[in-house]
Amino acid sequence: MSFVESLTLMLALAYSASLLYWSGKKSGAVVTIIIAVGAGISSLYWPLLVALAIAATSLTIFTKLRPEAAKGELRANSLRDGIQHLLALSMLLVGVQFAANTAMLKAGITPWLARPDVGDAFLPIAGGIELKAIMTLGLWDQTHPAAAVMLAVVLLTGLLCKRAFCGWACPLGLAGEYLYKLRKRFIKQEFMPPAWLDWPLRMLKYLLLAALLYIIIGMPSASIPQYLAGNYHKIADLKMALFFVTPGLITLICFAFILGLSAWRRQGFCRYICPYGALLGIISFLSPFKIRRSTQHCLIETKGMNCDKCTRACPANISVHTQKNIRSDECQACMRCVSACPKREALHFSTRNGIKLSARGLTIMLLLIMFIIPLGAYVGDFWHSQTLDQDRIYLIQHLKSIGH
Ligand code: SF4
Ligand code: SF4
Repeated sequence: MSFVESLTLMLALAYSASLLYWSGKKSGAVVTIIIAVGAGISSLYWPLLVALAIAATSLTIFTKLRPEAAKGELRANSLRDGIQHLLALSMLLVGVQFAANTAMLKAGITPWLARPDVGDAFLPIAGGIELKAIMTLGLWDQTHPAAAVMLAVVLLTGLLCKRAFCGWACPLGLAGEYLYKLRKRFIKQEFMPPAWLDWPLRMLKYLLLAALLYIIIGMPSASIPQYLAGNYHKIADLKMALFFVTPGLITLICFAFILGLSAWRRQGFCRYICPYGALLGIISFLSPFKIRRSTQHCLIETKGMNCDKCTRACPANISVHTQKNIRSDECQACMRCVSACPKREALHFSTRNGIKLSARGLTIMLLLIMFIIPLGAYVGDFWHSQTLDQDRIYLIQHLKSIGH
């Protein structure tokens, strides 16, 4: 685990412990601290221990300077923006470190900067095949184990808290938001497709997901060990990086289409293209937490008003004010509707039997899922790639000739 990964992880766990403490869940805060300290001591890995010390110091200073932020007593929109920007910054640093590591490999130098394993999160097919290997063969891949771990993490977020990963954590969603805002500065008009076009466009992402699942499910279990031991799998991350760094004409056209789509319509990429969004959308139907509108408190039923503030705040264009439970696969649990609602208690992110999750509670749940599982995987020796640098130096020289 590189230093950037260790620091992000420890900062996230320290912040989760702080939020748990200030929300009155002191035992949860203690358990989180014990897990972080225990993992640091049992691994005796200096980046984790240094990151833990930095996280504890930063949080203490942060609590003095911005107590309301340290306690999570912000409006949902500010809390979500802060989490999303910090995670995006971490991913940016991970990208820079990955690029530096790759440049050293390409130059034939044994890298002194570690490869950040979390970058394997961008290998969803490898992650899917690895999960299949674990489930059908009991085989735990040692080449890109973080791909399986991160895929499992994302799936678990969908199962527990809808598409909160998209709304609160995904750096691509954030980039799309900026593109959309940039476009709106110059062209104010909204370009919403009519319903008859919107629906088939939304199905595009499910088609892409079906293609990915076809590759994963279609691979016979018997050939998985051979695939996982092969050179293609060993450099799947480098192939992926090469794909983005040296795009062909068709790839460039696809990129231009995606950028145009994101600028054209808010959340255009998430809504129409992203196969991860499609996967989370399907799984999110199982999530016990949903946005629920209480007719006992909503101004429509109690005062007969024509309120639709929740609907107007929704970036996914969901008609919140006309439904009691938002089951839509497009709901990213962003809580913008809850923030916009003038009537306390009218809208909640809650279970059917009334367990409510505030923005702070959702932040805690998301951060704990996203960071405790990778920490456990690291301590359990299922995170770091076992491929030797010397092998990667050799393989990167022959990158173009290595196929499936
Ligand atoms: S329904 Fe609410 S939580 Fe869901 S996407 Fe719309 S604004 Fe966000
Ligand atoms: S914003 Fe609140 S009060 Fe208004 S319709 Fe939506 S849930 Fe009801």
